[in-house]
Amino acid sequence: MTDLAPGLYLVGTPIGNLEDITLRALRVLRGVDRVLCEDTRETAHLLAHYEIQAPMQSCDEHKEHACAADAVARIQAGERLALVTDAGLPGISDPGPRVAAAVAAAGLLVVPVPGANAALTALVGSGLMAERFLFCGFLPSKGGARRTELERLQAMVVAGAEPLLLVFYEAPHRILEMLEDVAGVWAEGCPVVLARELTKLHEEFLRGGAAEVRAQLAARERVRGEMVVLVEARASAKTGDESIAALVERLMKDEGLSEKDALKRAARERGMGKSEVYREWTRRPGRRACGGTCRPGGSAGGA
Ligand code: SAM
Repeated sequence: MTDLAPGLYLVGTPIGNLEDITLRALRVLRGVDRVLCEDTRETAHLLAHYEIQAPMQSCDEHKEHACAADAVARIQAGERLALVTDAGLPGISDPGPRVAAAVAAAGLLVVPVPGANAALTALVGSGLMAERFLFCGFLPSKGGARRTELERLQAMVVAGAEPLLLVFYEAPHRILEMLEDVAGVWAEGCPVVLARELTKLHEEFLRGGAAEVRAQLAARERVRGEMVVLVEARASAKTGDESIAALVERLMKDEGLSEKDALKRAARERGMGKSEVYREWTRRPGRRACGGTCRPGGSAGGA
């Protein structure tokens, strides 16, 4: 007997560790009439582990269209359907949205059942400030298109004039090329965190500049496992290697900012306090001596 109303239940499943599933997800999987799966073999493992006997139906990305129409008809006939992918949340770089859209458009019930997600799990463990981030999913697989996309993202960061944490999914056979492109678009020292095999036995986080993380991976006999790449993208393409003083000078020269505005912008871009940036600026090599009392633009207000 089930207490579930007829509808589509989008159920989050583990991204590695089978314990990462909610009590509610298990109850829903036990209560539905059928489970729509990205790959029935993967879902069969999960259901067997929890001794759940629900009929499974394949609904991979190539079948999503037909699957959507079928789901609408079944729910109209009173069925309860769960939709799961191989790992994580349906619809996040995975099948699901077309079926959900069709069910919602037919005025039927769509219920998200939250669970594990690789991007958020990587962010949480990264040690980076994750108050504001942009989920970018997979980059194009071809080199030219990938670089164009990274440059498009860089243009967005420049327009926003603030650092932006970019979150990518990447395949192990493309990761070295991807990190090379990140170093090319931003800087070799551009801060990167690579989260690999999250929630699994060999979970690891590699942290450092783009070139440094790439070198760590390249030194391995084989690069494998599932991975999320976090890139702290800054508005100035080369700021990762640039000193604060050089950044302020460049903002004044290239963008015509006043000294005061350049100091403010540098603080924002680097996520530093204004007084810290000001201190770095007054200590720059070759600066005329003024007893530490000089103020930007000669004003007493400081940066
Ligand atoms: N829907 C999933 C989610 O909510 O995270 C993502 C599915 S997407 C097809 C698969 C990609 O997610 C992998 O190529 C990898 O980039 C990332 N991923 C999935 N599981 C992971 C794990 N355990 N550790 C690191 N990355 C993972």
